[in-house]
Amino acid sequence: MREGLLEIFQDTYRELRQGSLPPELKIDFYAFANVNNTIRLREGRLLVRLSDLLEGAPDTVLRAIAHILLAKMYRRPIDRGQAVHYRKYVASHEIVRKTHLVRQMRGRKQLRSPRGHFYDLDSIFEELNARFFHGLMARPQMSWSQTKTRRILGHYDPAHNAIVISRLFDHPGIPAFVLEYIVYHEMLHLKHPVRLRGSRRCVHSAEFQAEEKLFPRVAEANAFLKKL
Ligand SMILES: [Zn+2]
Repeated sequence: MREGLLEIFQDTYRELRQGSLPPELKIDFYAFANVNNTIRLREGRLLVRLSDLLEGAPDTVLRAIAHILLAKMYRRPIDRGQAVHYRKYVASHEIVRKTHLVRQMRGRKQLRSPRGHFYDLDSIFEELNARFFHGLMARPQMSWSQTKTRRILGHYDPAHNAIVISRLFDHPGIPAFVLEYIVYHEMLHLKHPVRLRGSRRCVHSAEFQAEEKLFPRVAEANAFLKKL
């Protein structure tokens, strides 16, 4: 831990709570993509997570963030001067640039790779391609989404010829056939482009739905997804 950081939090605690003894404190720096700081009380211990972007911040800024987090925790009014001091630092040129760069690097790295921690989308695509499409489908750009979105499990983006699958599924608790079903569904979007029927966009046509039923464990996969 950074020298003096614990003392800053302990002093701030005593100031806010009229000299009462601070509980055990654990302060860590985390690589948040955004400037993000959190505080929690767990079993009598205060757990503080600070963005690693604050690691090199001057003591006055760390004092300000300690005040803001502890005041929030104990429902005390936040001192305006401290809030302004913290915000000014975060908004300052250097840190904005750093945040931007870090976000860009993390974003790019994740966007490009079909390889997750547990599942490789390229090999899943090729395996499904051989099993269901005679290996005839040209592989689009396969990638995991940047966040673990629950709202959109997967989607085919015709403009970029890309299939993006929610990172939620790159997890050992997800059975392979469930992920395969999601990818298979998106592959069907590639095979059955969206057509206009009257004025209505027909995303899942009758042919699409019939072909989707060819996936052997479709009911089981859907049941799993419902519980997600
Ligand atoms: Zn769909």
